[in-house]
Amino acid sequence: MSAQLIDGNALAAQIKAEVTAEVAALKTRGIHPGLAVVLVGDDPASQVYVSHKVKDSEQVGIHSVLERMEATTSEVALLAKVEALNNDPSIHGILVQMPLPKHIDSQKVIAAINPAKDVDGFHVVNAGALAVGLPGFWPCTPHGAMKMIESIGMNLRGKHAVVIGRSNIVGKPMAQMLLNQSATVTICHSATLNLKEICLCADVIVAAVGKQNVVTKDMVKAGAVVIDVGMNRNSQGKLCGDVDFGAVREVAGFITPVPGGVGPMTRALLLVNTLKAAGA
Ligand code: NAP
Repeated sequence: MSAQLIDGNALAAQIKAEVTAEVAALKTRGIHPGLAVVLVGDDPASQVYVSHKVKDSEQVGIHSVLERMEATTSEVALLAKVEALNNDPSIHGILVQMPLPKHIDSQKVIAAINPAKDVDGFHVVNAGALAVGLPGFWPCTPHGAMKMIESIGMNLRGKHAVVIGRSNIVGKPMAQMLLNQSATVTICHSATLNLKEICLCADVIVAAVGKQNVVTKDMVKAGAVVIDVGMNRNSQGKLCGDVDFGAVREVAGFITPVPGGVGPMTRALLLVNTLKAAGA
């Protein structure tokens, strides 16, 4: 058996088409959704990510502003920039690209973003809203992963979902979203002793580690849904996920590829959040 692919590019294109129509409808009401992306420094990967975010916004009709700041920018100057964007009525969503240079406290910067403009969903107000089931912005990557599970029509109630990784931006919110759908959730991390045995019980595995081949064929139950959030470079410099894709595909029921999986969905969900921030 070979697993069915969950095509992130196709799903993201569908979401972008919906956002394009909703942006156009908002504009007829005099609202022009605006997104500000702040990039501090010149990290090559971050530069690629922000250029994608700006391009995606333009494609769907969202006004986007890229604020570039020097790597030597002080924390005070960055906080002042965030405050200016908080007060700018043409900007509905603010995203500060992570990671920030070491001399800047990321948590302080995230806390400075108006939660109503926090389209990354990293602010403690939005994390808390997700935890207690109140409306708010959900982090784009796990939300995109949830949409991928939804797309195959899987009812998560009573299913065992294993999330590998416990970061604030992927693992924890992913586990929370799965729990909110009444899955039985196990969160694994670097101190987990019996990862293989836990994964073998899973109906859904979400790998969000950042290490190639963390999930191998012998860890996956036949027919399981495998969502690969990881983004790594293999020895040939090619983009790959955390899952040994070729082998795991032989046992899984559904699997997401890297590239073309969670990545494009993350970008699409940022547009959804920006639209929501603008009042759609
Ligand atoms: P992170 O903050 O580095 O967290 C990685 C998590 O993996 C940690 O919780 C860590 O455990 C756990 N871990 C490390 N080694 C492990 C092992 N051998 N077994 C089990 N767990 C292990 O990373 P992140 O920001 O969550 O990102 C995870 C991956 O997703 C990265 O590859 C990142 O590039 C990718 N990503 C992709 C997108 C996208 O759009 N596709 C978006 C965001 C992130 P401890 O907590 O114990 O250290």
